[in-house]
Amino acid sequence: MKTQGSKKQNTAYLTEPPIECNVRAAQCCPAFLARKGALKCDRECWFCQYADFHLRNEVTLEVGICRYPKKVITGKPVR
Ligand code: SF4
Repeated sequence: MKTQGSKKQNTAYLTEPPIECNVRAAQCCPAFLARKGALKCDRECWFCQYADFHLRNEVTLEVGICRYPKKVITGKPVR
């Protein structure tokens, strides 16, 4: 799995989910819900069930989208 560009470590803690807006992998908010099956599971958007980083695609997104309250557990792009 590749990422586009370098993975920036923007660790800003969000006070609420930025619904349908961009999120960085290392960000987090109070609505975090761990992805099932993640081997490592830090409290970061990267591991959140609401984050859309196109994880099942060949190239994942460096900047994902917070899909809260819709879970993106399949990894398929949400339309
Ligand atoms: S992806 Fe998850 S942890 Fe990140 S902002 Fe959205 S709800 Fe919060």
